[in-house]
Amino acid sequence: MPLPRGLPVVDHHCHLSPRGDGVLAAERFRAAGGTHLFLATQNYEESVPLSLEAYARQFEVTGGLAQKVLEEVGVRVYPVLAPYPVDLVGASARLGASAALELHRSALDLAGRWVREKKAVALGEVGRPHFPVSEEVSAAVEDAFRYALEVARDSDCPVVVHSPDLTPEGFVELSERARDAGLPPERVIKHYARSRVDPESRGGVVPSYLARRELVREVSNDPGPWFLETDYLDDPRRPGAVLDLATVPRRAVAIAEGGDRGTDLLWTPFVESIERVYGWRPEVGPEGAL
Ligand SMILES: [Zn+2]
Repeated sequence: MPLPRGLPVVDHHCHLSPRGDGVLAAERFRAAGGTHLFLATQNYEESVPLSLEAYARQFEVTGGLAQKVLEEVGVRVYPVLAPYPVDLVGASARLGASAALELHRSALDLAGRWVREKKAVALGEVGRPHFPVSEEVSAAVEDAFRYALEVARDSDCPVVVHSPDLTPEGFVELSERARDAGLPPERVIKHYARSRVDPESRGGVVPSYLARRELVREVSNDPGPWFLETDYLDDPRRPGAVLDLATVPRRAVAIAEGGDRGTDLLWTPFVESIERVYGWRPEVGPEGAL
């Protein structure tokens, strides 16, 4: 069964770089059936950002790429912005932990402003490095994470969390942290989820699953909210290091062809989950993404 008309096909987490495939990757996505991308920012420069201006430049690049992809490819792109939690490691080494934390907090304020001005849809990636860090950096990380949750609360938006893989206990801990900061856990997304989490045991936190074939098969019958993503890196130095941007639409086609309920299932990650977590629905018109 082909993909139904009017169904958005959404990759919930990718990166694009002006030095990588950029628009070409978005063209592959569209050719495979994709319509909407959530585009997470990243460092585009050689050094970790050491000033608020550097973060402002970074966010402008992300916003510019989103615009370019819409204009040239017709794929709707939603920017997701925040200082990357791992930046605290490099910035602490250069500036000291307390100045690095202060910069990080200002960059979170800036990202919150982008959301309130409707130029971004969520704060991300926020959270914790996926590797051990010194005690001093770890304290800064925890402070920054709490602050990110508060900025999301005040900006009325979701957060996209970067962290090591989480056990069910980890999901519950995350949910409690969000609640402590006044952000409903239903607005917290664990990105790069690499194994299925039981919907009953994740404390309301929403998994964004890596679109590996087996995992997609395992989760496709789960009630929402959950998302699919590639975490596409668009790094010409690491070809094939991650899933290609065409992957989510290809998985969607496979689900659609999988049986009677196939096409119904797709509304869960691509429409209903977005509506529940973000508060609006992506839409497709006769000409493509709206
Ligand atoms: Zn990412």
